Amino acid sequence: MTTTEVTATGIAAVDAEPSVATPADGQVALGWLAEEAARLRAAGLHREPVVRRTDSPMVDLASNDYLGLCAHPDVIAGGQAALAHWGAGATASRLVVGTTEAHVELENDLADFLGFPSALAFSSGYLANVGAITALAGRGDLIVSDTGTHASLIDGCRLSRARVVVTDRGDHRAVREALRARTEQRALVVTDSVYSIDGEPAPIAELHAVARECGAALLVDEAHALGVRGPGGRGLIAELGLSGAPDLIMTTVLSKSMGAQGGVVLGPDQLRSHLVDRARTFIFDTGLAPAAVGAAHAALRLLRADPAMPVRLRDNAARLARAIGAPPPAAAVVSLIVGDPHAAVAAAGHCREQGVLVGCFRPPSVPVGTSRLRLTVRADLDDATIDRVAQVVSDALTSVGVR
Ligand code: PMP
Repeated sequence: MTTTEVTATGIAAVDAEPSVATPADGQVALGWLAEEAARLRAAGLHREPVVRRTDSPMVDLASNDYLGLCAHPDVIAGGQAALAHWGAGATASRLVVGTTEAHVELENDLADFLGFPSALAFSSGYLANVGAITALAGRGDLIVSDTGTHASLIDGCRLSRARVVVTDRGDHRAVREALRARTEQRALVVTDSVYSIDGEPAPIAELHAVARECGAALLVDEAHALGVRGPGGRGLIAELGLSGAPDLIMTTVLSKSMGAQGGVVLGPDQLRSHLVDRARTFIFDTGLAPAAVGAAHAALRLLRADPAMPVRLRDNAARLARAIGAPPPAAAVVSLIVGDPHAAVAAAGHCREQGVLVGCFRPPSVPVGTSRLRLTVRADLDDATIDRVAQVVSDALTSVGVR
């Protein structure tokens, strides 16, 4: 076979043996997938989506439906009404004809509730984070992120092409050092407000002070704080009195405590209009489905009407943690480290057999050696259910030798 080679003086023909086998049956190109799957299985890291069935009554402590609003009749009715009125899909990107009055009403209400001048909805929280970060930072800018951030923030940083410095989680002094040592003019600090894996809060007040001192903007992902922390469930930013700060960007999701689907970016009016112009995941993505908009808006109305809902959620989380012997949780997540991924899978399987669904997190979602059960508590669980869950989970941990 003859191949070509680019030389300093032009393109020359070179005789060479093909270095890669190309069998006629085409088995080789994706042959590595089976090897990779075998390797993951051996390491206890292979995954399968859990299929929910309507005929199996399980106690759900694996979802992020923190307020139990996903199946609330008002939320379902809100989704159905929007579905009937606007149809099944947004039909186009938001900039074409995919923005309905329902989208705008939801955005305005969210901005008002959360104390920011404006809000922009994306079709998922993942896309909201990627879109916001890539629109705010690019080549020649600096992003300071940390080791606990959600994958959507990490991917936004990577796609932005900015220089990215990753500090240890919670280390706001390292964030200051990175910002002070920079040569770039523009800088963005990104963090979760409540870390998704273990429900611990980030030092948002300190990070905001550092960002302000160093002329950087701060983007905070409140996915696990909306409906959970702060006055009436407004989140950690509101709890700290930082809502509406001009150098603060809040992102959050409609897919957890709102029980629906979608992501939102909140901040100054100029931020919203910049994202409309520049966020590729807004511009090139079909708008959020009307049913999700209607359902999320109904959930927001319920949360506004019942500010005690997040209090019930936090009380339930405290009761579960106490019953299992875990430290008091800062949000709605009770994280129980098992260590070995095989043992974590076995413990989660034991819970499932007893009718309790729990999250099982293994690398790469968590660092090696910290595979764990992740229990997400809900506001609509009663005390008897929480106590039963605690017994099942404790037995599961004992069965794999962790307790
Ligand atoms: N941010 C955080 C902190 C999350 O936990 C998640 C969901 N796992 C997302 C963003 C992405 O949100 P969505 O599922 O709505 O895409």
